[in-house]
Amino acid sequence: MISEAEYVFRPSVEKRRILIVEDELINQEILKATIGDFYEVVSAFTGTEALDIVNSQHETLSLILLDLNLPDIHGLNVLRKIREEAAFAHLPVIVLTADSGAEVESLTLGAIDFIPKPYPQPKIILARILRTIELSEDRDILRFTERDHLTGLYNKEFFYRYADQLDVYHKDTPTDAIILNINRFHTLNDRYGKSYGDEVLRCMAERMLEIVKKTGGIVCRSEADSFLIYCPHCEDYQAVLDAAAICAPVEGQSESRIRIRMGVYANADKSLDIERRFDRAKMAADSVRGIFANAIGLYDNKLREAELLSEQLLEDFPVAISEKQFQVYYQPKFDIRVDEPVLTSAEALVRWKHPDLGMISPGIFIPLFEDNGLIQALDQYVWSDAAAHVRAWKDRFGKALPVSVNVSRVDLLDPLIVERLLGIVAENGLGHGELLLEITESAYTKDAEQIIEKVKQLRQLGFLIEMDDFGSGYSSLSMLSSLPIDALKLDMQFIRDAFREKKDTRLLKAMIQLAVSFEVPTIAEGVETMEQMLALKKMGCDIVQGYYFSRPLPEDEFEEFIAARV
Ligand code: C2E
Ligand code: CA
Ligand code: CA
Repeated sequence: MISEAEYVFRPSVEKRRILIVEDELINQEILKATIGDFYEVVSAFTGTEALDIVNSQHETLSLILLDLNLPDIHGLNVLRKIREEAAFAHLPVIVLTADSGAEVESLTLGAIDFIPKPYPQPKIILARILRTIELSEDRDILRFTERDHLTGLYNKEFFYRYADQLDVYHKDTPTDAIILNINRFHTLNDRYGKSYGDEVLRCMAERMLEIVKKTGGIVCRSEADSFLIYCPHCEDYQAVLDAAAICAPVEGQSESRIRIRMGVYANADKSLDIERRFDRAKMAADSVRGIFANAIGLYDNKLREAELLSEQLLEDFPVAISEKQFQVYYQPKFDIRVDEPVLTSAEALVRWKHPDLGMISPGIFIPLFEDNGLIQALDQYVWSDAAAHVRAWKDRFGKALPVSVNVSRVDLLDPLIVERLLGIVAENGLGHGELLLEITESAYTKDAEQIIEKVKQLRQLGFLIEMDDFGSGYSSLSMLSSLPIDALKLDMQFIRDAFREKKDTRLLKAMIQLAVSFEVPTIAEGVETMEQMLALKKMGCDIVQGYYFSRPLPEDEFEEFIAARV
């Protein structure tokens, strides 16, 4: 188990601050001379002055030395007033008095200790002060101590409080906020079992403690597979990463199976909430997501700009929705099993025509809205738009062209999603099979059971489910075979990789074979050339979407696209 001492923030450059409340200048001077080398001293000569200082500076004070004989307010009343205010009631107070009779009353009012007058030897004064401050800080910490049961590290809530407290005492120490994530931890659990995953986390926790022993600072496990470090600024992040990445092999396995993604917000701005500072570290870590090897991301100006843009987009969203700045584009899908490819359906893809920023691609705002709860409103807008167009085209051409819409993981966690979708198709007098639902494979990586249940329910109602980005989510085969799906849409990357300069279509072929074994049609997207289309056809792919047939088109152009083909 880890001892309390190991968590202590070591480099203690700033001094604790002590308020001396004493009306006689000579006594002030004596105390200052006694403790001034070890503490920063603030002086008050009256009760009123003392209360003013406590009010405005309590966050930086560690102790109050309070004389009872003050010219304006009696010291005991000053003490009483301090104890009444929740924000600083916990501040330890040592009473200075020549009157031994006042001791009991001061104690009742919550004074922690006494220093008699005339003053004893300096070392006695210093010892009492040190003990009082230590006791009070330990108590503050213990009040909130909560540990993560698996690793024995602090949990996130406590960690944040502790970090705030450290800032108070080390406000001038440049400090780094660091996050470490294990890449695709869930697949580790899937493949080697939960107890293996737990072992890896415990091992990581030990490494992290060793790291903060060297750098100073504190560490916690914030979520399943992520750890936070708050430490004095260091330069050698690679050393931190390397130390974290060696994990003791489990049960005879010789090498570590973990890959770590680390994000650093160096010299963190202390005027920001501690959580914001770690959000920035997380942004930095996310910027190196997808790199297979261990990787370090640094929060820099580029990320700062991305953050500013995100803030603006979030702020602009309500107006954008009400002013219909979002426009839905349609991209056709063709059945290539026959000699002459046939238009079979389309995918609805949203764009944002921003009045100041111009056309914004969904790749920028969709992930942002997924993280911030706005995606539901946007998706419902897109689903309604798509349904209304299926209706209009069905009326004009006498035959429905089904449209698939993208359904985010967050949408599927909405308890009302089934009702909402039913409402939208009913409003437009459509059959349930005329609005197809594209759900990305990675939607199933968390709360899989809940998501699968919802998708099954939709499927039973007649909605057709296409699995989007198939092959990118690293789902296990056993899980894939139990999923409720009607079509598999290959991740575009397979097509890209297969048709690079040095052509290698083996993986693409294998993926198509896999899809065939699930006995559902295969869709390839991102198909840009005739050569690609013909090769896919030969491999047994059923449906194709991509620039070869058409880019996504605004509704009016797409309507003409249909008109030319019926
Ligand atoms: P996705 O669902 O995988 O959509 C396919 C993306 O590939 C689209 O990008 C499309 O424009 C692009 N694409 C199509 N054909 C080709 C091609 O031949 N070559 C290349 N290089 N690209 C092609 P887009 O429209 O930028 O959308 C990006 C992603 O944003 C989508 O990926 C989807 O995940 C998300 N998205 C778009 N609209 C919505 C929406 O209304 N709701 C939700 N939840 N997500 C959406
Ligand atoms: Ca899609
Ligand atoms: Ca896709």
